[in-house]
Amino acid sequence: MPQTPEQLAADWDRSHISHIFPSDVRHADLKKYLDELKKIGVKVDEVGESFGGREIYQVEWGRGPLKVFMWSQMHGDEPTATSALIDMFAFLQNNRSLDWVKRIEKAVTIRAVPMLNPDGSELFQRRSIQGIDINRDAVNLATPEARLLKRLRAEWQPAIGFNLHNQNSLTSVGRARKQATISFLVVYGDAAKTSSPGHERSMRLASAMTQALQKFIPGHIARYADEWSPTAFGDNFSAWGTPAILIETGGHYGKDEMFLIRLNFVAYLTAFNALATGSEANQDPNVYRMLPENGSGILVDFVFRNAMIASRGGQAGGTVDISAVTQRRRAGFPKPVVILSVGSLGGRRGLEEYDASGFYVVQRFSSVKAEELAEFSFYKRSRSIDWSAADLETRFPPDAIFSFGRWIKGAGVVPRK
Ligand SMILES: [Zn+2]
Repeated sequence: MPQTPEQLAADWDRSHISHIFPSDVRHADLKKYLDELKKIGVKVDEVGESFGGREIYQVEWGRGPLKVFMWSQMHGDEPTATSALIDMFAFLQNNRSLDWVKRIEKAVTIRAVPMLNPDGSELFQRRSIQGIDINRDAVNLATPEARLLKRLRAEWQPAIGFNLHNQNSLTSVGRARKQATISFLVVYGDAAKTSSPGHERSMRLASAMTQALQKFIPGHIARYADEWSPTAFGDNFSAWGTPAILIETGGHYGKDEMFLIRLNFVAYLTAFNALATGSEANQDPNVYRMLPENGSGILVDFVFRNAMIASRGGQAGGTVDISAVTQRRRAGFPKPVVILSVGSLGGRRGLEEYDASGFYVVQRFSSVKAEELAEFSFYKRSRSIDWSAADLETRFPPDAIFSFGRWIKGAGVVPRK
């Protein structure tokens, strides 16, 4: 029997060799992971070089007739899948004695390029070091990374492609107040959305992965809009004959990046299981088709409702709602939180919401307005404060302080809604 999703998750728990958060993985760390893979006998080849002179590698495993090509981190600040690929190869190689792994080994050959954009990864930025979005460079081919990706596909002619990314952690499932933790897109090969057997199979695989992941993140799976992007790699892979599945990993409130690696690991092995057993043929493509589309403009990280803003120069105005969003940074770095709106929330909802009625709020270094940092002091309204006082926080210690997305003083004083 193939593994259940729960068993696959337990397999990851037991076996994963990635032990640092993906956003903290540098090119040097990737090389260490690849050395570990080489030591256990996995084929790893240097296949090219980035514009900045960093090596790009391809990993290969399996000896079956069905060719599957995967690539990750063509956007440098989208790291989850790189670690998930490493863990997948380590697991497959170390468990070849298991019947279900043997079956995958005989059915498929997997090639994967983890971290296609090592320069962008080093800078933790989306674009390449040339300032080019590699995923929009499939036609111009102005970057060595895009030329390499195109060549690896053309030389090998894989039957299926996996294009692995991260999306904004505030992407929602449709209009719901739910993060899209995983979003799929089975990419058409033309603007007319012409179906093909490969495209149909990829839809069934996306259905299999969706069903597996629903066990861990029910209701947190969505689908990307499938409009044709003429310069994007996924679309062109499909056009060139390798129907591509886009997997976008988002966020999941209260869970860290390792949880997201685990979801990816379960998804990939579910797909390979389905291909190896042939069970993909029985999947209902409508599971994928019926997923709600990705939504934006719904979720923010923080909302403070009914706050009365006090300004340093003088007295407070009326009460307002404030929303704020966390900036994307590596796991090891403090993440600044920036004010998105003051006043109407415009329908936005917070992953964390606080009821600030009964409090004054002061921006600790400047003023409460959009684009300033959400560095807030809270004072009970019953207190008498001289807002013009120099060194306000010393003369009038706040009841609570919110800084870098955490309560550094008075946790729980401002009630969570
Ligand atoms: Zn991306």
